[in-house]
Amino acid sequence: MTLIHLRNVSRIYTPAHGPEVHALRDVSLEIDEGEFIAIVGPSGGGKSTLLNLLGLLDDPSSGEYLLAGRRAGRVNRSAAARLRSRHIAFIFQAFHLLERRPAIDSVGLNLLYRGVALRQRQEESVRALAAVGLKDAAWQNASTLSGGQRQRIAIARAMAGDARLVLADEPTGNLDSVNTELVLDELERVNRRGAAVVIVTHSPEVAARAGRVIRISDGAVVSDTRSSVPREASESMQPRHIAATPGDARTFLRVTDMVADAWASIASRKTQTLAQCVAVVIAVALSIITLGLSASADAQVSETFDAHLNREVTARWATGLPSSNPLADAPSAARAVAGVEAAAVVVDLAATAVSTDSVTAQVQPHMVVGDLEEAARVDIDEAPWHRGALQPGEAYIGDLLARDLELGDIALAPTVQVAGERYVVAGLITESARLPLLRGELLLGADAPGLDSLAPEATLLVTTLAGAAPQVASQLARAINPFAPDEISVVAPSDDSRLRVQIEAGVQATLIAFTLLALLVAIAALVNTTLMAVNARRAEIGMRKALGAKERDIGILIAVESVYIGVLGGIGGLFVGMMAIIAVTISQRWAPVFDVMLMPLAVLLGVVVSSAGGALASVRAARLRPAENLRAS
Ligand code: ADP
Repeated sequence: MTLIHLRNVSRIYTPAHGPEVHALRDVSLEIDEGEFIAIVGPSGGGKSTLLNLLGLLDDPSSGEYLLAGRRAGRVNRSAAARLRSRHIAFIFQAFHLLERRPAIDSVGLNLLYRGVALRQRQEESVRALAAVGLKDAAWQNASTLSGGQRQRIAIARAMAGDARLVLADEPTGNLDSVNTELVLDELERVNRRGAAVVIVTHSPEVAARAGRVIRISDGAVVSDTRSSVPREASESMQPRHIAATPGDARTFLRVTDMVADAWASIASRKTQTLAQCVAVVIAVALSIITLGLSASADAQVSETFDAHLNREVTARWATGLPSSNPLADAPSAARAVAGVEAAAVVVDLAATAVSTDSVTAQVQPHMVVGDLEEAARVDIDEAPWHRGALQPGEAYIGDLLARDLELGDIALAPTVQVAGERYVVAGLITESARLPLLRGELLLGADAPGLDSLAPEATLLVTTLAGAAPQVASQLARAINPFAPDEISVVAPSDDSRLRVQIEAGVQATLIAFTLLALLVAIAALVNTTLMAVNARRAEIGMRKALGAKERDIGILIAVESVYIGVLGGIGGLFVGMMAIIAVTISQRWAPVFDVMLMPLAVLLGVVVSSAGGALASVRAARLRPAENLRAS
């Protein structure tokens, strides 16, 4: 029975550069079921082109191809893929196995693309491996097997698929004579089981084993030893129906098969997988760091506001004005306002000479009433003998002034002369956040002499509970002087909420810009690494297609691999990002802010980045033409 009928088939290549190549010219040829054919002839004669056409890896430029009486040439690619997975097996000089994966995976590959379930795939594969004497190698890594073993695995694949047509391109080209014999024995066995075997070969010994020899030269059949009676098949050969209908095979691969195949595939290419994961890790880690730090930085901005600006109110008035409250009462009047934590009045006295025994300086002294340390955020290094508020005859002196006056150790109670009066130094002002000049000046208690030379202004410094400053500011003037509140000017950070929002938005915008940049760089890196990976896998992808993978199957394989890499990279990036956030917040003494949403977000981000990076490669891979890429290896 005729299996294949070629009628007036030509194949013209039209390379991008250079003239057209007439690789096959008007070839007509019939192949019967169960034939064993050798195709011989000089290099460049058109043998591989013919084999590609027979295997539906390529379309004729003109002419007709009938497979079991049905038109098979120039069907659409997915129908051709289906016919290949169902009826055609390929054996290549370069073996084309799934490297670094168990041999059994390579054997069952076209059953996979036929939609056969895992258990049945494994049973068929083990049976086929047993038939070629390699049952024990089923779970062995294909890359560790010898050339002869590898080729027998390719033959086992043809057996497992129960192919009607086995196409072999120089199958013994890489083998020594012993292995050549073994492989030919196996091919004969496949042939006896009913398959038509077509071998392209340069070897006269191989050709001698064939029942029919077709010589091709310059794109034409120059001789054909076809006998009118084809060799009888002896083992279990039954006529089978060859169909191109969709019901012949599952339209979609099983999800479990796709997922398992993709996992095995990335696991078998650890270095490439690692390179791709690293790109995702960097993108996700940078995103997590910026997101995490922006939350921590926001919290820090709020805390800083609340700690300082948002808690400070200042009131000023001219001391010469008639007032219901004597000066000394102003702090306690202010403390009566709800929300006030501390209050102190500072009055500037006229600049005067301040001197020790050896040095004299012109200094502005201040008189202070109330809780200055809290209200003005002043740190005073008190003398060990001193307790409580300033007493008459005591002074605090700025540390910078003390140095200028060569004051000496305050534990020894040194004294200074101010406007002719002697004061004991009770402490050094070492920090003064609200009144920075104090470190070069002098503070006296309320009943200091010289009050008659008051400067015209008194300043009331108030600190409030967090966020209470605006409300305290609105009540403060009336509390100090209920009769003339307008005479008192009050300053509070009224616009702080807007300022806070602005600062936060500024921080956010910077961090988001960095994140986007990081994502773009990572995607660009991934496009590059994934395209390189696909390029390195051209032969494997060509082989998968030869065995029946449709464009969609290849696209999905690369996409699922990208998702795996995204998940792995996402988890890795989350870990690295978290570590970095902890390191930064600890070094800055911020409270780290972790949002649990960062965890799923990291994985999602990894998948998005990886898929975006892999999308182009996935399309490229799906479109690879098997005929050219199988030769690429
Ligand atoms: P053989 O297998 O007998 O060595 P081929 O079938 O490989 O011969 O090639 C037949 C002719 O077609 C050669 O001249 C070859 O250079 C040319 N050829 C093969 N493939 C292509 C291609 N993809 N594009 C252009 N020319 C090609």
